Amino acid sequence: MIPYGQQCIDAEDIAAVVEVLGSDWITQGSCVPQFEEFVASYVAATYGVAVNSGTSALHISCLALGLEPGDWLWTSPITFVASANCALYCGAKVDFVDIDPQTYNISIAALKEKLAVAELHGTLPKIVIPVHFAGQSCEMEEIYSLAKSYGFKIIEDASHAIGGKYKDKPIGCCKYSDITVFSFHPVKIITTGEGGLCVTNDAEYAENLKLLRSHGITRNATQMVNVDASPHYYEQISLGYNYRLSDIHAALGLSQLSKLDMFVEKRHHLAAVYDNELANLPLILPLQKQDMCSAWHLYVIQLDSNYNYSGGRDKLLSRLRDLGIGVNVHYIPVHTQPYFQRLGFQVGQYKNAEDYYKRAITIPLYPKLTAAQQGEVISSLKMELC
Ligand SMILES: *Cc1c(COP(=O)(O)O)cnc(C)c1O
Repeated sequence: MIPYGQQCIDAEDIAAVVEVLGSDWITQGSCVPQFEEFVASYVAATYGVAVNSGTSALHISCLALGLEPGDWLWTSPITFVASANCALYCGAKVDFVDIDPQTYNISIAALKEKLAVAELHGTLPKIVIPVHFAGQSCEMEEIYSLAKSYGFKIIEDASHAIGGKYKDKPIGCCKYSDITVFSFHPVKIITTGEGGLCVTNDAEYAENLKLLRSHGITRNATQMVNVDASPHYYEQISLGYNYRLSDIHAALGLSQLSKLDMFVEKRHHLAAVYDNELANLPLILPLQKQDMCSAWHLYVIQLDSNYNYSGGRDKLLSRLRDLGIGVNVHYIPVHTQPYFQRLGFQVGQYKNAEDYYKRAITIPLYPKLTAAQQGEVISSLKMELC
């Protein structure tokens, strides 16, 4: 089976990990701070705080921005559940803003409309999490300007998007957000096995994120309540977690980071081949906006609604799987998940998201996908749809 996504690990990556395994520090050594510095510098942000997953990065970002019980957090229904769950971890309430049917990112029109209503009802969000779906940035300038008008904070969920650009600036520079988070799960653009990272340009947020990822403990005298210069002394000054990344993971991340541009370039090349080869099939191909440069995490096709493929999306999905093409669907709209239904969300609430879901298929895209494998994907689609 050709998977829809897969990590790309080479001998150099393996050597980097083995080196750490033989060293004195397999966690809290020099690799983590170096990884943080390199990622922050790559995306042109000031501070980086590495953690053990993208989900942990979202959780502590919400806490660092002061999300509390009673507050609202809004995100897109077309995302991985973690973008919504982070609100619930903080005891806050979550709500969704429908997607733009062309980019599958949060719809600016829907956001505007929902904010106007929320203002009347006194239910404005404290945080909005735009998700850069498939690696293409949301319209951050517009979201940022709404944040200024309505007073909410922004966390960019860039789990799909390291290596992408928005208006010529790297995604993650935080020009239009408070914090940006990345995931380094193996299917994402670069991997640490499991891992995540927050970037921000705000020194206070960065300090807070560091405390939150490690039990709320500080060894920095200027943050301490008591004066004690003993070498063993530390203080817990807030309630944090153990969300640390190990040096083993960070070593892999550092090695992967040196290949990030090459990975994104390969993804662009593969996406361009799909764009050409699939253009005449009854499919809607992923629209790329002018001022964006996607990291191309996912290549999502939709069955054209005018084309009557008997059995619909699910039939095509299983036919392709039978042919050895590991297609998938990103994502089941979060509000339709049983847990979210129990929270009171209704099927039918976010029409664009649900329409998209009925027709979407993610086809294989990752740096190691060979021309022959991609050819198989293309010919299978042609066979089924011609
Ligand atoms: C992968 C992903 C996450 C969670 O990242 P983990 O590292 O798996 O915890 C969050 N949001 C989106 C959009 C993702 O794709």
